[in-house]
Amino acid sequence: MAKYVYDFTEGNRNLKDLLGGKGANLAEMTNLGLPVPPGFTITTDACRHYLAAGVVPDGLEQEVAEHLDALEKQMGRRLGQADDPLLVSVRSGAKFSMPGMMETVLNIGLNDESVHGLAKQAGGNDRFAWDSYRRLIQMFGKTVLGIDGDLFEHALDALKGKRQDTDLDAGELQGLVETFKGIVHEQTGKDFPTDPREQMRLAVMAVFDSWNAPRAILYRRQERIPAELGTAVNIVAMVFGNVGNDSGTGVAFTRDPGTGRQGIYGDYLQNAQGEDVVAGIRNTIPLEELERIDKRSYDELLGIMETLENHYRDLCDIEFTIERGKLWMLQTRVGKRTAAAAFCIATQLVDQGLITIDEAVTRVTGDQLAQLMFPRFDGGADKKKIAKGMNASPGAAVGKAVFCSERAVELSEQGEDVILVRRETNPDDLAGMIAAKGILTSRGGKTSHAAVVARGMGKTCVCGAEELEVSTSEGRFTAPGGVVVSEGDVISIDGTSGEIYLGEVPVVDSAVVEYFEGAEPEDELVKAVDRIMSHADSVRRLGVRANADTPDDAARARRFGGQGIGLCRTEHMFLGERRQLVEDLVLASTDEARQAALDALEPLQKADFTEIFRAMDGNSVTIRLIDPPLHEFLPDIVDLSVKVATDGATDKDRKLLAAVKRLHEQNPMLGLRGVRLGLVIPGLFAMQVRAIAQAAKEVPGARPEIMIPLVAAVQELESVREEAAKILAETGVEALIGTMIEVPRAALTAAQIAEAAEFFSFGTNDLTQMTWGFSRDDVESAFFSRYLDQGIFGVSPFETLDREGVGRLIRIAVEEGRSTRPDLHLGICGEHGGDPDSVHFCHDVGLDYVSCSPFRIPIARLEAGRAALTDSDSDTR
Ligand code: PEP
Ligand code: MG
Repeated sequence: MAKYVYDFTEGNRNLKDLLGGKGANLAEMTNLGLPVPPGFTITTDACRHYLAAGVVPDGLEQEVAEHLDALEKQMGRRLGQADDPLLVSVRSGAKFSMPGMMETVLNIGLNDESVHGLAKQAGGNDRFAWDSYRRLIQMFGKTVLGIDGDLFEHALDALKGKRQDTDLDAGELQGLVETFKGIVHEQTGKDFPTDPREQMRLAVMAVFDSWNAPRAILYRRQERIPAELGTAVNIVAMVFGNVGNDSGTGVAFTRDPGTGRQGIYGDYLQNAQGEDVVAGIRNTIPLEELERIDKRSYDELLGIMETLENHYRDLCDIEFTIERGKLWMLQTRVGKRTAAAAFCIATQLVDQGLITIDEAVTRVTGDQLAQLMFPRFDGGADKKKIAKGMNASPGAAVGKAVFCSERAVELSEQGEDVILVRRETNPDDLAGMIAAKGILTSRGGKTSHAAVVARGMGKTCVCGAEELEVSTSEGRFTAPGGVVVSEGDVISIDGTSGEIYLGEVPVVDSAVVEYFEGAEPEDELVKAVDRIMSHADSVRRLGVRANADTPDDAARARRFGGQGIGLCRTEHMFLGERRQLVEDLVLASTDEARQAALDALEPLQKADFTEIFRAMDGNSVTIRLIDPPLHEFLPDIVDLSVKVATDGATDKDRKLLAAVKRLHEQNPMLGLRGVRLGLVIPGLFAMQVRAIAQAAKEVPGARPEIMIPLVAAVQELESVREEAAKILAETGVEALIGTMIEVPRAALTAAQIAEAAEFFSFGTNDLTQMTWGFSRDDVESAFFSRYLDQGIFGVSPFETLDREGVGRLIRIAVEEGRSTRPDLHLGICGEHGGDPDSVHFCHDVGLDYVSCSPFRIPIARLEAGRAALTDSDSDTR
């Protein structure tokens, strides 16, 4: 029979798929002998069953009852027992952490009787018992019964006035419980459920349901977490941080998640329960101060943090509670960190002997490296600093201040850059956080919601800028010195230093980019990047080339570690002043006139290629013969028509209009382009091949490769190849001749095509377009957001290679091509060549190289190294 419930003593950290991250790690800590309150985990299988079928699986309730029974025996008290209650928390826990997205309910088991039993347990502490009870109704009301949380908040605020929540006495809290019960009745038409088992059952369902709450769906999409995973549910014996001042709750990191530096990083809140810390209800104190308050617990905590770091061999974050001087661990996991910290921590752990350099490479990602290549503020620029907060997530962001999530989304859709400014954020702000360039809050520490979520997204964030008075209702904030920033005013925030500036501060390249450009590694981060990149280069099997068609791009590609050019598009070489020559070519009505136009283009092309060969300094340069339809080079049909309809039109204008009309196509992407052009316009490809050969002769060591686009049938390629080979033989230049594989038919007939091609380069932009039947120029803006919303795919197939469809065609082409020609050289030059996940696919499928834009070369190098070090199933998140 299926097993849906695991005691903490039964699980371990490797069971994240089944027990979720929280459950698996609670089990791991239990097995390590750390002080974890006893409990059990309901598996993700049960959740998936519930979400699919709408009812819990058979046997689940029985299994939960048995585990609860065992827990009650172990604790020596029954759930909600009137005179001596066991209370439990019900906590969500998915495989991948989704901070604040899912639901948690604490203090389950309290009702009008057991509240007195709880007070007795705590030595007659009525205040604590009523505080716990009001928290239960508040959390349960909001998360399980779906009542607007503000109703409870406002009632609490009204009672508190200017006091802290800890100033409320037992009588007041008892009154608050009655008020809260009234809210529940008013909003749901029913009484607050007082049966402890019913409370627990409903809370478990609510956690299951929270998997499909809109904000959780949005977060998953952003973080590319698969929608079908479901969440586990943990039921844990309650320990209390709100018993008095000898109790409290906190969160901590084993090292700084912003920089990776070792030290004490965390927040502590006396006399409080877990949710208070993250919600920023009261300002926390730095964890160091716990040493003064409760040295024994503090020392024990530091010892546990060291144990955890050595055990997990990585930065961990933890949640803990102290109940009357006794420390309890409530959660740990390998903690999220900034991109900079990821690189620094990986190399620090190597130096500490905890991990190997191979592992260090697998611990960082191409996406993190991309974040480090973002610009930062210009140190020399004039800046008007107005305040400073905490440096929660690095980077430099400039934009208009906005004060609510909806407005952030609205303005960003209009193309504005915005900074979302809030007192503190909560999961409802997620859409605005995604839309904003940066996030600024006036409350909450480095572990606040804003900080954690922003770091996860790689978004610049300054949090806890307490000098700012933020009024979201009035749409403005006030900084020291009376500076008022209203909605729409531009501000700049520095997530690396925590500084906030009025107006727009100019940004400059990152130190990591400067390093790739050739600067010596100086600071710790750049040194870490250097070590990791060198190792990735030494282990990767895939070559990395660039898509570059100017000498500048070619030179940058070399500096960034590109080992050649995998795609030199020649079309831009027909723009600008040269359009005139293309017009002549199109209008030529005799062979002589056409040849004259081609002859005029040839020396210009030769000069283009000469410069690129020089910049590539003996590395391969794959030059693709002209690809787009010729009418793209001609004037716009509407402009021409207007011109011809008015007086001043010349004879050439009239002829051009006729040509444009003649060349007009309903589906130009499927029309006269690529190899088809070369076959239809005599001499066009020959001119380009001659220019390549002449240029190669002039640059010693030049290694040209000639690539034919849009081939669908070997016959097309054979004909062009013959002509090109003849020109090469005449000029005495050696060059490989190969083809792009970008039409599905080419992939499916790769065995034949390889007869005529010495290399294949997968043009996955067109291959994706034609495999899906998606117009690459239209669909992303037209309807992809709907497809993403509906989960038809999790990410655009133009961004990350669709392994099942397009990938299958690539596999077929690789196998068939190599069966014909075992030394067939294989690469990819579509945009996917610089996408982390797609690079792993290219490694797995056995390509020789990937080719991508120069700025993505370091990312491709790193991911190629990671691919070589990890197995094919690993994800790149
Ligand atoms: C491709 O189709 O993937 C490709 C690289 O060519 P282009 O984007 O120029 O069509
Ligand atoms: Mg193409």
